[in-house]
Amino acid sequence: NEIATMMEVSVTRIISACMSLGIMVTMNQRLDAETLSIVAEEFGYEVEFITADIEEAIPEEEDAEEDLKPRAPIVTVMGHVDHGKTSLLDYIRKENVIAGESGGITQHIGAYGVTLDDGQKITFLDTPGHEAFTAMRARGAQVTDIAIIVVAADDDIMPQTKEAISHAQAAGVPIVFAINKIDKPTANVDKIKEGLANMNLLVEDWGGKIQSHDISAKTGQGVKELLEKVLLEAELLELTANPDKLGSGTVVEAFLDKGRGYVATVLVQAGTLEIGDYVLAGTHSGKIKAMFDERGNNIEKAGPSIPVSLLGLDGAPQAGDKFHVFEDEREAKQIAVKRTQLQREQSVRTQRHITLDEIGRRIALGDFKELNIILKGDVDGSVEALTDSFQKLSTDEIHINIIHKAVGAITESDVLLASASDAIIIGFNVRPMGNARIVADREEIDIRTYSIIYDAINDLKDAMEGMLSPEM
Ligand code: GDP
Repeated sequence: NEIATMMEVSVTRIISACMSLGIMVTMNQRLDAETLSIVAEEFGYEVEFITADIEEAIPEEEDAEEDLKPRAPIVTVMGHVDHGKTSLLDYIRKENVIAGESGGITQHIGAYGVTLDDGQKITFLDTPGHEAFTAMRARGAQVTDIAIIVVAADDDIMPQTKEAISHAQAAGVPIVFAINKIDKPTANVDKIKEGLANMNLLVEDWGGKIQSHDISAKTGQGVKELLEKVLLEAELLELTANPDKLGSGTVVEAFLDKGRGYVATVLVQAGTLEIGDYVLAGTHSGKIKAMFDERGNNIEKAGPSIPVSLLGLDGAPQAGDKFHVFEDEREAKQIAVKRTQLQREQSVRTQRHITLDEIGRRIALGDFKELNIILKGDVDGSVEALTDSFQKLSTDEIHINIIHKAVGAITESDVLLASASDAIIIGFNVRPMGNARIVADREEIDIRTYSIIYDAINDLKDAMEGMLSPEM
């Protein structure tokens, strides 16, 4: 309907143009970039995608090898509710006292850095949980280098533990397990490690490669060793960044402070941020008036992996927005204004996710090699049966990847994972719960629900062969 209006032709002509391309559409369906281009061409128009231009307006220069310096790992803590994520972050925050500092970290700015005895540094994102992690990823921001997954030893491997594992794996972020609450008499560390082994996650003392440490976030037992293991993992990643250029990175949180104006906490990922810099962050811009660290100290500069709160933006950007420093204040401002306009024009889409209907066409075009699936079912048996059958459908052309499977309804967190990983969601005898449907519509995630295993397998098979008749 929109493109018909823009080109001043009737909707039926667009629909029949799509049909002649083998695409069945309804009036309100959104077309992907490629179809839009082809259809527009039929009517003598050329499509220009404005959003892409704006992103490209910010050049991402390659760094020379010799300019890259080591940087501290950035860590997110995840795990099931009440397993001790907040307690662990609090313990680390309180106990880590840098020489010359009078106390622990008192301010909550969304991220904090700690320095270990030997001078090595780790940066923690202070919003625990895989939802925040994946929400950022769905916005295109990958900040975390390593995930600590906390599992309470007096409990079990719980649904959200499994979710956290899938979310970290889908992002390709290495995991270090923290088996928590070992001060409790009911703690059973081996039961947890066995549970992990049953999920094909072999921790070190079970002969595997995944790091894990037994801790108590309450007494602090083992926390230091846990952090050492995080650093070992970081060493393997050889994390580097070029500190000698204009700063860029990701917004962690932002809010309006009555006295100080807009305060944004950002994590510098490359270059160095300095007072007086002109910053563009999401749809906002401004000149940095002041910067603070997590101890409330004024700072002048912040290099890679350093979190800072900054003052001077003309609004509050969203968590996950990227920020860039510009030489020219006007340029930063112009892009911010353009982005705001685009945001208002809801019709301009930045991203489009895969749907079952589209798979066959994309495979035929040869640009689609991997299909990510999130599988939710009512019982373990059906989830496993479907996993097996789906995986058997993998061909040389297309690999089927089950990035997360679990028993239970389809949740908002599943939808965010699908959005971050460009996946489709298949539910067997389960339905979307709570906000999941609304978020799925917004993010354009394809959710398919089935009650007959055979139907689910057949649909996927048909889709891969480009034979699926569109869902009406
Ligand atoms: P979160 O939901 O994962 O952030 O969990 P919290 O950090 O809020 O912890 C949940 C509860 O477990 C709180 O009552 C904590 O005091 C308690 N807790 C956390 N870690 C430990 C621990 O190592 N030992 C004991 N005994 N209790 C803990």
